[in-house]
Amino acid sequence: MDRASICLCLAAESLEADRKLAEAYRGKADLLELRADHLRPEELARAGEFPRQVDLPVILTIRRVRDGGLFAGAESGRIATLERLVVGGFRYIDIEEDLDAPGLEARIAAAGVRIIRSLHDHGGVPADLGSRAVRLARRPTEIPKAAVMPKSTGDLARLLAVFSGQPRGERILLGMGDYGFPTRVLATRLGSFLCYTSPAGAVVAPGQVDPDTLESLYRFRSIGPATSVYGVIGNPVMHSRSPRIHNLGFGELGRDAVYLPFLVDDLDAFWDVADALDIRGLSVTVPHKQAVLGRLSEADSVVRATGACNTMVRERVGGPWKGSNTDVAGFLAPLRELFGGALPRGLGATVIGAGGAARAVVHALAAAGARVLVLNRGEDRGRRLAADFAVQYASLDESGFAEARAFADLVVQTTSVGMAPESSADPAPGLVFTGREIVYELVYSPPVTPFMKRALDVGCRVVGGLRMLHAQAMEQFRLFSGAEYPARALAELERERD
Ligand code: NAP
Repeated sequence: MDRASICLCLAAESLEADRKLAEAYRGKADLLELRADHLRPEELARAGEFPRQVDLPVILTIRRVRDGGLFAGAESGRIATLERLVVGGFRYIDIEEDLDAPGLEARIAAAGVRIIRSLHDHGGVPADLGSRAVRLARRPTEIPKAAVMPKSTGDLARLLAVFSGQPRGERILLGMGDYGFPTRVLATRLGSFLCYTSPAGAVVAPGQVDPDTLESLYRFRSIGPATSVYGVIGNPVMHSRSPRIHNLGFGELGRDAVYLPFLVDDLDAFWDVADALDIRGLSVTVPHKQAVLGRLSEADSVVRATGACNTMVRERVGGPWKGSNTDVAGFLAPLRELFGGALPRGLGATVIGAGGAARAVVHALAAAGARVLVLNRGEDRGRRLAADFAVQYASLDESGFAEARAFADLVVQTTSVGMAPESSADPAPGLVFTGREIVYELVYSPPVTPFMKRALDVGCRVVGGLRMLHAQAMEQFRLFSGAEYPARALAELERERD
């Protein structure tokens, strides 16, 4: 099958505004969808003129409210409008699976317009999706389309199972929202006829990105039926910089590979997704770094020492996963730069947090001979981490902050507090900086957290999370691709960081 087309959805209130949007994306999209349900009534009346005003094939859609659209009028009025407009030169018309309008269908056939026969469910993935998808595809001249809303990793796994059980004819099967996002980018890989996009800043359906992002961030037009799939699993994960880093590297090396964010609420269900997409490599982030250990057949010495894994690779579908931890090397790289080599022995370090990232940090610092104090909200987890690496623990409150004064050469913030979208939070507002500390923030989105800002304001030397992210990603890239991260791509990342 050919590559999936990029369809730009136009949902302005006037035809002129839609035409300008189409013009703004000239050369970026292969076809347009006119969402005529968004047009003002007087504009809807003239919508048949639109195909002549643009130079791409156009899909005509008047979506009902119950299917996620804006058309709230009587069904008879909608059908009459479709009948009138369909002769305007549209290439496709999107009509629903339950539409019973033989007169309209006769007119569509007479006008030589192809039907996209659609099913929408904004509430979830229907239990009977498989049988409904088969019914949708019963007329060979039509293009069946199912657009559903996975609300969990399990829903995505079910949706992919339906994809793989279907013959790979012309079809559109997609998952909306963050859980379904990979199905959009992988349209060609999954045998879908097109990928819907929206103009930047005017998202028409949940999960759509603009054509520029689809191409520049995800290399959409390079993805083929055999492209290797990599990704990052986390919750939250859609803010992750890792797709930018790895796709840039794959692109620079000309590899047939793509890297995607996978929002994962249920790891057990995710392994079915990984098999369905034949995923070969994964970055692992909050909160799964410890939970993935049970899935590993092999683990490197850092995973064994830290009990946390941030990288998984395998050589074939269903094959054993090998786990590595690149956070330790990534964490140390900016400090080595700062100290011009090894860390000074006896350095006093406070580590806030006791999750997967903290385990890597404490392991790295203890092995480098630092004196470490762990501050954590949850006492059990904090004490366990401190005991595992023979360092000290105190609570994340005023008494802990007082103890931290004796461990203040370096303060490392490893909790997820301050991470987008809740980026105004500070995990330790009572921990006062003097200006002499080196403050190291692991959160990298946003690039400056409130915690970092306090440190910058009093003149501390500050290391932001992007430095570590890039350093650990370079190691991961080597594990995924067997190649060094290309220098040109790294230079571009550095420019974006500064
Ligand atoms: P994790 O295993 O889920 O651990 C989360 C930690 O945050 C735990 O210590 C938890 O404390 C603490 N925490 C969560 N909410 C809190 C709150 N409201 N108040 C106080 N403490 C709170 O996550 P992780 O894998 O360690 O990742 C943590 C952060 O580091 C994430 O933002 C991640 O993106 C970032 N990170 C960045 C890099 C990088 O390269 N820059 C690398 C790795 C991680 P409890 O034990 O009390 O629940």
